[in-house]
Amino acid sequence: ETTPNLVRLGDAAQAFIARNRGLFIDGEWHQREARIDVLDPATAKRITTVARGNAADVDLAVAAARKAFDEGPWARMTPAERGKLVWRLGDLVERHADELAELEAIDNGKPVTDARWGDVAFSHELLRYMAGWSTKLTGETIPLSQPSAFHAYTLREPVGVCAQIVPWNFSFMMAIWKVAPALATGCTIVLKPAEQTPLTALRLAELVQEAGFPDGVFNVVTGLGEEVGAALAAHDAVDKVAFTGSTEVGKKILDAAKGNLKKVSLELGGKSPMILFADADLDVAIPAIASGIFYNMGQTCTAGSRLYVEESIAEHAHEALADHAKGLRIGPGLDPATQIGPLVSAEQQDKVLGYIRSGLAEGARLLCGGERHGEVGYFVQPTILAETRPDMAVVREEIFGPVLVSSTFADGDVASAVREANNSIYGLAASLFTQNIDRAHSVAKKIKAGTVGINTHHVIDPALPFGGFRQSGWGREMGWSAIELYTELKSVGVALNC
Ligand code: NAD
Repeated sequence: ETTPNLVRLGDAAQAFIARNRGLFIDGEWHQREARIDVLDPATAKRITTVARGNAADVDLAVAAARKAFDEGPWARMTPAERGKLVWRLGDLVERHADELAELEAIDNGKPVTDARWGDVAFSHELLRYMAGWSTKLTGETIPLSQPSAFHAYTLREPVGVCAQIVPWNFSFMMAIWKVAPALATGCTIVLKPAEQTPLTALRLAELVQEAGFPDGVFNVVTGLGEEVGAALAAHDAVDKVAFTGSTEVGKKILDAAKGNLKKVSLELGGKSPMILFADADLDVAIPAIASGIFYNMGQTCTAGSRLYVEESIAEHAHEALADHAKGLRIGPGLDPATQIGPLVSAEQQDKVLGYIRSGLAEGARLLCGGERHGEVGYFVQPTILAETRPDMAVVREEIFGPVLVSSTFADGDVASAVREANNSIYGLAASLFTQNIDRAHSVAKKIKAGTVGINTHHVIDPALPFGGFRQSGWGREMGWSAIELYTELKSVGVALNC
């Protein structure tokens, strides 16, 4: 049952909203008359408004970040001093974790329990992980191939001013994925949160200031994608743009970045497959598959949105999955007992319901869900469509909602399962469920995806590279790979004249 207004925001989150922050530029808050409404997706009511920044604000923020990068004091800090600040920011995120989780729950709609123990907990651990790299950004001495009298070595240096544009589905965590390595390497930042979910980025700015980062190192400009995001991606004084969002907008970012050929990293969409073999342990596989698709209401770039089941267990597996889906507790994100919150917006709800209708019209069989939930807010029931075909829009396109499409493969026909799993323009994640160790590793090798789970779906860790094959993106975040995204390598040759 949906129980809107059952729970209220804690005092700290309410106090933050009452502060009604503007844009955060060069260590100061700037109010703007133009506003964007921030809605609670569980009730469709307005929570507050935020400033609608524009291209002139982007100029101001980039100039502040440029100055902080070029002149210091940030630029003169030792790696150890920088690392301590990043660690301190991790501590502050942990200290305010409940408040951040509540803000994320009311802004995005996601279950507060997931926000607290998923998004926010991951974020403070990632900050600490990246803080550790600050003091380890070493170059190498290189033995040369030519008989020249050089002593040669490399230096690893921060890439410079970074524009970071993030989506609404994990707004705080996506910001930290980008902010943590950028700060650890000594870059400066202009962050643009999604217009639907700007609150936690603004709270992050307060925490950055409290941690003691110099002015201009971290700036936040809220606003629309076509205004603030596009201006950032095109800006000549920006050295790198890091984007997470849809593949469609990712291509626009690439175009915009061409002017000064700034570095580009992209984390884009997905349509990730899950393969369920008949020998799988279903007690493990069914909850993992359900969480693979329904976690965060399917608004997860790595969502396991296509299922391929070996024929002989299909009926049983479908029944078990539908039972699991029907048992998930739907409610407002702020209720700690909620497992399925609303989708982020009316637009997203309409889009997802439209896809469900299209799948049914094209002949898919409804196993559960299929409708909006309740009268208020942007809820959609967890939905499973079976007997889908590769040509259907629901199989080809990213729905970004709680909708699993399922089809079967003939017993023993591993090759066709792999072929269908790879039959996509995307390649972000995948999973397979089997107790046969040979098959597990050989199929994992054949799958075209940046991350493959064996007997689990969502595989993420601060130390593990994350990113996409094909149209799911360019580059890898987290681990050492993220450090590479935020640094340039310089070769130095010293003539040995004696
Ligand atoms: P989106 O692409 O519409 O928006 C993402 C961000 O880009 C927002 O901040 C938006 O304001 C901004 N933006 C929009 N138009 C822009 C433009 N022309 N120039 C510059 N910036 C612009 O995506 P969304 O709807 O917010 O998020 C959902 C998408 O994000 C899904 O496709 C999902 O798969 C993807 N995603 C990917 C990952 C990943 O790591 N691969 C993670 C989360 C989400």
